[in-house]
Amino acid sequence: MSETTRYQHFIGGEHVAPTSGEYFPSINPATRNVLYEAARGGADDIDRAVRSARATFEDPAWRDLSQTKRGHLLRRLGDLIGENAEELARMESSDNGKLLREMRGQLAGLPEYYLYYAGLADKIHGSVIPTSDRSVLNYTKREPLGVVGAITPWNSPLTLTTSKLAPALSVGNTVVIKPSEYTSATVLRLAELVLEAGFPPGAVNVVTGFGAEAGQALADHRDIAKISFTGSTATGARIAANTASRFIGSTLELGGKSPNIVFEDANVANAAMGVVAGIFAAAGQTCIAGSRVFAHRSVYDELLERVTERARTIKIGDPLDEATELGPLAFEDQRDKVAGYVDLGRSEGAKVLTGGNATDAGLGGFFYEPTVLVDVDNDMRVVREEIFGPVAAIMPFETEEEVVRLANDTEYGLAAGVWTSNLSRAHRVADRLEAGTIWINTYRAMSPMSPRQGFKNSGVGVEHGTETIKEYTRLKSVWVNTSEDPVADPFVLRS
Ligand code: NDP
Repeated sequence: MSETTRYQHFIGGEHVAPTSGEYFPSINPATRNVLYEAARGGADDIDRAVRSARATFEDPAWRDLSQTKRGHLLRRLGDLIGENAEELARMESSDNGKLLREMRGQLAGLPEYYLYYAGLADKIHGSVIPTSDRSVLNYTKREPLGVVGAITPWNSPLTLTTSKLAPALSVGNTVVIKPSEYTSATVLRLAELVLEAGFPPGAVNVVTGFGAEAGQALADHRDIAKISFTGSTATGARIAANTASRFIGSTLELGGKSPNIVFEDANVANAAMGVVAGIFAAAGQTCIAGSRVFAHRSVYDELLERVTERARTIKIGDPLDEATELGPLAFEDQRDKVAGYVDLGRSEGAKVLTGGNATDAGLGGFFYEPTVLVDVDNDMRVVREEIFGPVAAIMPFETEEEVVRLANDTEYGLAAGVWTSNLSRAHRVADRLEAGTIWINTYRAMSPMSPRQGFKNSGVGVEHGTETIKEYTRLKSVWVNTSEDPVADPFVLRS
């Protein structure tokens, strides 16, 4: 019998055993087999990682490295991820149950994030500010913050870590990552590749463990300059309160309950595929899931038929099998949560058109059938709360005015889909929807170049694009008197 692999923390460029001496298992959600054990981190491990990151931040070898050379390192890291893409895709697919074909797609795009921020690294600078006194030179500098704490979820560990890591490193920060307890492996491997790319030891550290232990300790650590978090709105709220009380910043990418709106003038066949992509891809375990579907009354029946038909034929199975279209939910509690919501919907009066059952797909894992709920309205909990599973609630509407109101009637504001062939309507509705990302006649499009921001309870701050650079830098304003003349009046404010 082979021994279970044991992963240690990655601190200061080395594999480090947990202070507690304890490890916890990570389960393959498709089969329930134990994949590996990861170190159970606590406050001592986090402290060690933050001290290592701080020492590297202050080390001239990193601090004084030219911006161009930082770009070279990021480019090399992107290349290494590309070279190791298949290994990383398989690892993550086994760890969180995401389809290998989707992971291969994510991994094919991941190097671009590093290349994008590599390109930006030597284009980040301050500016000269005009003043009313010609003898005064005022200029600004964009400086790194220090040690950034990154706390990430299990649904797309590498991609969501990268959204934080690439910009944070490009401007000269160092980073401590606490990955989700369900998906430690690929983030640990990523940290090894960071070292291999030539970043100094301590530039990127990973402490694995539980949210309430390692995560909380990272968010609480007094030498952290910022927390960048992706996860649930509830945890995000705790982190926001905690960081605000210490006057440090946080970037928060949180939950969603995104509307996907199909107008009467839409190409309904395409819209139906957009609805399927929005809610059944990744088994609905994406923050941007289009979980509230609104279809104009005149196309409601056709859309329902197309979506339900496709949902019924979705191939559930082993995520490593190229033919599989729906893998398991990432862990047992998540599967039970999804099942609980569908039962709640039934008790609230919803009708299950297709799906509505847990299954082990013959593999022993935590699968749930693609599910379509109808006879639902915007007041039901299944329509208001994030389920994070393959469950679509489909509702009819009559007018544009009405659907904009219904779409915006949510605590969230992450994303929205609009399906229409009317150009004016597309832009008009995009303008009125309260969401940070709007897709028109498409869904789930993403790029490192395009900024994304959650509105309302979906987050604070921007990820991706040039905008996110501000999240990882601080601005310093420097005033220089170029005149040798005596100061005219020391009691008057200078400008
Ligand atoms: P959680 O908020 O439970 O966890 C996210 C991360 O925070 C994990 O690493 C977790 O550790 C950690 N954590 C948990 N409690 C604490 C704490 N008290 N202090 C510090 N860290 C803590 O979310 P999930 O892992 O359940 O992720 C799913 C959620 O993430 C969904 O609600 C989804 O909408 C959201 N999400 C948002 C995205 C976005 O871009 N807006 C993208 C992807 C997901 P542990 O795993 O050990 O509990």
